Amino acid sequence: MKIIMLGAPGAGKGTQAKMIASKYQVPHISTGDIFRANIKNGTELGKKAKEYMDQGLLVPDELTVDLVIDRLSQDDCSRGYILDGFPRTIPQAQALDGALAKRGEKMDYAINVDVPDENIVTRMSGRRACTGCGATYHIVHNPSKKGDICEVCGETLILREDDKPETVHKRLSVYHEQTQPLIDYYTEQGILKTVDGTQDMNDVFAAVTKILEA
Ligand code: ADP
Ligand code: ADP
Ligand code: ZN
Repeated sequence: MKIIMLGAPGAGKGTQAKMIASKYQVPHISTGDIFRANIKNGTELGKKAKEYMDQGLLVPDELTVDLVIDRLSQDDCSRGYILDGFPRTIPQAQALDGALAKRGEKMDYAINVDVPDENIVTRMSGRRACTGCGATYHIVHNPSKKGDICEVCGETLILREDDKPETVHKRLSVYHEQTQPLIDYYTEQGILKTVDGTQDMNDVFAAVTKILEA
């Protein structure tokens, strides 16, 4: 089971990816999480990525593609995986397809979590992210039972710098320009499935499960 989660920033890709990962026992691979871990650890990659992320821009493909392709060759990926936030550009998608083709593999599904722009800015301003483990919450739709403390690891929850409205607008325009073309790309491959991401998160998950078990 090899799945790509597509959708605007804040559409609910990460939320659904975690639910799929736990139900089907496959790894959840989030490029955003990988970059944030590198920033936290002060690596060279983290320093470079941060310059782009803070501005709401995409990290260049040269810094992104090899990282993901290497990750996919690890043992825990042998039964499949869920890619969350990758690919985000046509060249990334082509590089992924190329790397898989070499092993005689291909992606099974690209699930497009569809949420209109109007809903995104309010949703993002309510997102809270854990500085320790990367868990995400929402102040209204999915609050932590411990207030601004993570239920999973006990660290503090924050509003991500790039989730503030100014940066969210920039990220949305980057999404429409660079990532939305992937919807056509995967439609042409015959693997695109769209779910209505404005529903309650459990209803979105029911729609996703229906697709995966069809
Ligand atoms: P969201 O969950 O809101 O969609 P992510 O955590 O996936 O955001 O990504 C945060 C930021 O990390 C992006 O705005 C971008 O700067 C960078 N990033 C993540 N994935 C990629 C990628 N595949 N290509 C380029 N940049 C990426
Ligand atoms: P993405 O990974 O696409 O950027 P997230 O999964 O982090 O999106 O979700 C963005 C925010 O919206 C989070 O605060 C999350 O808790 C919340 N959220 C996710 N799915 C839904 C939903 N179906 N309805 C309402 N809020 C949601
Ligand atoms: Zn945590």
